[in-house]
Amino acid sequence: MKKCRMLKITSHRIFLALAFLCAATVPAQTTRPDAEKQLARDIYKQFIEIPSGFTTGSTTPVAEAAAARLKAAGFPDSDVFLGGASHKKQNLVVRYHGTGKRKPILLLAHIDVVEANREDWSLDPFVLTEKDGYFYGRGTGDDKAQAAIWIANLIQYKKEGFAADRDLIVALTADEEGGGPFNGVEWLIKNHRELIDAEYCLNEGGHGEIVDGKHLVNYLQVSEKYVMNFRLEVHNKGGHSSLPVADNAIYRLAAALTRLSDFGFPLKTNEVTKEYFGQIAELDSGASRLDLVHASEGRLQGMQRVAAAAPVWNAMLRTTCVATRLEGGHAINALPQLAAATVNCRVLPEDSPQYVEEALGKVISDDQVIVKLMEQPGRGPASPILAELMDAAGYVTVQMWPEVRLIPDMVTGATDGRYLRVAGIPTYGIQGIFIDRNDIRFHGRDERIPVESFYEGQSFLYQLVKSLSSPQN
Ligand SMILES: [Zn+2]
Repeated sequence: MKKCRMLKITSHRIFLALAFLCAATVPAQTTRPDAEKQLARDIYKQFIEIPSGFTTGSTTPVAEAAAARLKAAGFPDSDVFLGGASHKKQNLVVRYHGTGKRKPILLLAHIDVVEANREDWSLDPFVLTEKDGYFYGRGTGDDKAQAAIWIANLIQYKKEGFAADRDLIVALTADEEGGGPFNGVEWLIKNHRELIDAEYCLNEGGHGEIVDGKHLVNYLQVSEKYVMNFRLEVHNKGGHSSLPVADNAIYRLAAALTRLSDFGFPLKTNEVTKEYFGQIAELDSGASRLDLVHASEGRLQGMQRVAAAAPVWNAMLRTTCVATRLEGGHAINALPQLAAATVNCRVLPEDSPQYVEEALGKVISDDQVIVKLMEQPGRGPASPILAELMDAAGYVTVQMWPEVRLIPDMVTGATDGRYLRVAGIPTYGIQGIFIDRNDIRFHGRDERIPVESFYEGQSFLYQLVKSLSSPQN
């Protein structure tokens, strides 16, 4: 990519220090004016109240509702696209025209949700409920807040006549949460690449973290691990269980899995995790501070101690493979003819599929254990740390919350960003929506986010996108 360069950490820190000084003198604009807040809330409510789970709902009415609002706000039909893999799985793509001096930015949010049963919830999941300072409802956090904010902000830019120097493209897409072959981002890349082609994309996957009631960190997700699933199988001729022999399919498989459980992929850092651990260390006043510093420097003992301290840190420092399913035998009184296990691997972006497959084979080291890759992995490269984005997001972050740091992050799960990264569009997770570290309810019951966080996210993304698309000198 021509516009990106490796982040110079020292200059970035100096920049943040300067931004901090400026922020001290400029009053923080943490939310937008009331009329804009109301519009964002109205769209949010409308999106939440349309069920869009994989089997019980449809993304089409959400996409249509957004299209109707955009057209009412003056977007011409030719700039508003509706289409998808099926009539229930429509996506929306809208283009806000800039001067075209720079390549467009893609602003992405998925509009499907994880299913929610009314009986499991204490409130109706498909009614936006504002209560005790929270917005409740399925999709309030994942991912209809960002979807509503993108649309509300685009309408506002139009209203202001904001002159961007690049096109802003908003895509609201289907079936990120899985369930079938209707993923909207995949479909758009395959069928309408020209509609979403961009220099880079902003997406879910990076939010802010509240600890003990205080805004602490704003995460910018730069990369994600990718998934490889393997099936391990041991076949045996079996026999009567009254005549056991040493060669037993279940024991062989169990022994292989025990070797796997004793194995750990090498610990290491990459450009993103190095920066992450370095910055986390500065926030940590406790005993693990020095370990975090050492981990950020790639020192083995530091990485070992950090990996042992928290599963999420372990997962950031290495590729992991873990047994997740087990089957075997066919009768209570027969020797097993088959024993099988599923092994789920979460692979660092810099580790190749061949490397993982070979390492797994070496650990198992039993030619009676057949190791099959279940499907081709969708491996995405890490997005480069983009100075233009780090600087703008860092600046808006300290302006809004002078105490907060912006920290680049690698997530151990997966988002639609993987399709875009594979397709050559670097993708960054950023929202400026803050959630308590211990109150993340995405995919669960009574999903919620703080009301204030929704409006702050609106303001953060409004300012961020504007600064990324304002004409440069
Ligand atoms: Zn999501």
